[in-house]
Parts: sequence; structure tokens; C-alpha cells
Amino acid sequence: MKEYIGKKYYEILGVPSSSTTEEIKSAYRKLARKYHPDLNPGNKASEQKFKEITEAYNVLISDTERAKYDTINGYNINTGTNRGQKNTKTASTQSSYQNKRNAKQAYSNTQKKDEPPKEFNTVFSEFMDGLFSQKNKKQTPPPKKEIPKPIKGSDITVDVNISPDEAVNGTVKQINVLYVSECKRCRGKKFINGASCPMCNGEGELSTHNKIRVKIPQNVKEGSKIRISNEGNKGQNGGENGDLFLIVHIIKHSVLKYDGLNVLCTIPITPPEAALGASIEVPTKDGFLTMKIPPGTSSGQKFKLASEGLKDEKTKQTGDQIVTVEIVMNKNLSQEEKDLYQKLLRAQKINPRGDLLKS
Ligand SMILES: [Zn+2]
Repeated sequence: MKEYIGKKYYEILGVPSSSTTEEIKSAYRKLARKYHPDLNPGNKASEQKFKEITEAYNVLISDTERAKYDTINGYNINTGTNRGQKNTKTASTQSSYQNKRNAKQAYSNTQKKDEPPKEFNTVFSEFMDGLFSQKNKKQTPPPKKEIPKPIKGSDITVDVNISPDEAVNGTVKQINVLYVSECKRCRGKKFINGASCPMCNGEGELSTHNKIRVKIPQNVKEGSKIRISNEGNKGQNGGENGDLFLIVHIIKHSVLKYDGLNVLCTIPITPPEAALGASIEVPTKDGFLTMKIPPGTSSGQKFKLASEGLKDEKTKQTGDQIVTVEIVMNKNLSQEEKDLYQKLLRAQKINPRGDLLKS
């Protein structure tokens, strides 16, 4: 319960106790214009005065609060016990305020509610708007512009190269993304005052590189498209961002091919190597290995290099490398080679087509 005893609200606002609501507002407006702290920076006296007039206004503007205040301080018009020189009894001086109060009847009726002066805030802000209208004019934007429509940012597509191993197990890659945004200087119009915009060189847009880290999931295939939502170009006017799409490319080896976890390759060998057997160097995903070719190897024969394939870290499965040998002929034989082949031909005991001719 507010303590109203001894407060001189009418005197503070410089109005008679018979004042109408409008008169109280008007008086407050004048005083506030004079004492508002914004207009008297650092002036403690003004600040104190402003507090007082605001408190007085706060009470007198509310019918309920004003009724309480009047009763406590002897301004109650119905009792006729007003102490001041203001005569509020006569019908001729009755203000709209009094009419309102009479309509509300007794103070006791409204006392129970003890309601806060709800209308005060809105009225007060109206006052303040009016009070500082001159000051605010420069700051407030000109009459409503059309609110620009939200525009969704465009999508960005980036190619990402990963190794076959990363394709199997997934990986985290740092990639460079080229973001494009509308030039803020010319607002995408490319020209300013008929001249090419100096900020974007007349492009209408600006581009920035950003390094971001992206997660590539397990078991991606060549050409897989991965969507990372909201990482595309920025939306405008509150629009959503575009998406970032990654196109996955699995780095190709000149010799090695991949089939699931298995690594495949075809290795050329010479006829003498095939006939006599040999140790040959074979490329693997991790480097090179020496592999033994047994004597009498045919073209197209496959050999397995166990566990030289890719490893799936999750299932712990490991593939093999499958080596297919291919006997290749030198088309420009030396005389010595030709002589040796002649010798070999005469020494050859088996006709490999013998069975074919029998049937
Ligand atoms: Zn520009």
C-alpha cells in the first residue's frame, strides 16, 4: 500500500484538486519537458524534480489511486472536508474527473482492488513520444518502407577428393568453400552513379573463401552427393541459408582398381618370366610389394596378395589384392631374341592346340 499521507501531488504538478485528467496530463507534459533527465544530463535537482512529478502524475492519472490519495489527504469531494482553498463542492466547477469519480461512487468500493494504474504506461509512453518527438525525428526511419522479402541463400557445390581408404572408413576433410554475397556498396546493382561499383568492380557480388571441416560418412561411392544443410550462401532479409553439397571423388590410381574392400590390378610379365617364374614388383595401396610368379604361369592367371586390400575399421574386415598377370610380347624383337625363339620353337614338345584338332 502506497503511503500518500502528506504528499502534495496537486502542488507538485501545479494544478487544482479539481483538475480533469486532461489538465493533469497537460501539466505533467509541461513539467516533464522541463525536468526530464535526458534534457538535463547530470542535473541532480532536475532528476529529483522529475521523480516527484512522475510520482504525482502516476497517482493522479489513475482514478483508483487518485481516489485513495484524495481520501487520505482530505480532498474527498463527497465529504466536503477539503482543506485547501479550492472549492470542489459546487456543481458548476465539477469536472469530468469528478463526474467519473461520482460514477465510481465511494472510495471504499475501489479500495479493495488496489489495482495498479494500468493505463499509466501507455499514457506515459505517449507523453514521452510527444515530448521527444523533435529529438527522435532524425532517428526514426522515414515512413514505412516495404519490408523486403526474405530470400533463401543459394546452394554451393564443392568437389571433394578422398582416398579409397577414406571412402571405406569415412573421414573429416577441410575444404575451401567459395561464398558469394551481394555487394553491400551497390546492393548488387553493379553501378553507383553510373560508374562501375568500386567495391565489387562492377560484379554486383563479393566472394569470400572459407575453410570448413566436413564429415564424409563411411562407404561412400564415387560421385556420391552429400548434403550439409544451412552451410550454403547466406540468406537475405532473414531468409534461410542455402545448402552445401559435396560431390565425392575417390582418387584413382593409375594401376589399382577397387572392388569393395578388394584391390585389383593387372601386371604385365614377359614370356620368359611366365615360363621360368620370376619375382616381380607389384604396386599396392601402400607402396610396392615383391610377388613371386611361379614357373609356367599363363596370361590371365590371378594371384592373391592376402590382406593387402582396404580395411573396414568398423567391421575389422580386410580385403585382398588380386593380381592378374598378362603376358606381353615385344613387337620389335632383336635378332638374338628371334634366334632364341627359333631354337625354342624347334625344342617345343607340346602342341597346345592338339586337343582342339582331335575333336
Ligand atoms: Zn558493388
